[in-house]
Amino acid sequence: MNIVLIGIQGSGKGTLVTSLEKKFNFNLISTGQLLREEVMTGSDLGKHIKEIQMNGKLVELNIVMNVINKKLQSKDKKITIFDGFPRNIEQAKALDKICKVDIVLYLNLTKEIAIERLLSRLTCSKCGHVFNRHRINSTVCPDCGGKLEQRYDDTIDSINKRFEGFYLDTYPLIEKYKKDNVLFEVDASGTPDEVANTCLRIINEHNN
Ligand code: AMP
Repeated sequence: MNIVLIGIQGSGKGTLVTSLEKKFNFNLISTGQLLREEVMTGSDLGKHIKEIQMNGKLVELNIVMNVINKKLQSKDKKITIFDGFPRNIEQAKALDKICKVDIVLYLNLTKEIAIERLLSRLTCSKCGHVFNRHRINSTVCPDCGGKLEQRYDDTIDSINKRFEGFYLDTYPLIEKYKKDNVLFEVDASGTPDEVANTCLRIINEHNN
């Protein structure tokens, strides 16, 4: 079963993934995290990706498909969750070519709450798990011991550009997936547990 997560930056996709990982096993394709891993290698490709990320723009499709295909080769679980992909119609068409999308969870959140969350977000540099600096009193990841830090692209400038991109390019996917009959809208303003339980119920209902 293939699940796609859609939501404005800060809507809690990463937090949802962290919660779901504690409840069941799945292959995770988080394109933002996979691209950040390339950045961390310090390669020329990584430098190119970082520049695009800092500008809040989208990395070229061929680069994104490369990291996705590499990750799909080691896929070993029944369920795959795509976080941060697809982000536009072109990417959705590319995904339709490689697999059938069964569920799209649209985490719906206002821009105002999303900005608040993004500016207090801490991300583990090692495992990518996300935390809110007001809820965690540590600079060390409780899940893997990695260093918790603010993401290099969580600046107001980059956040605003990513929001623009979301409404312009990603939002039209909601109509597409509604037509495909796979869209589930989830109120993302609740606590991480509330959002995770709602999503889990939807996944369980479709996983028989
Ligand atoms: P995220 O971790 O999902 O917030 O993504 C961080 C950044 O990585 C984005 O602002 C883009 O620059 C890049 N990125 C992540 N996913 C994609 C994608 N599907 N297509 C193009 N660029 C992406």
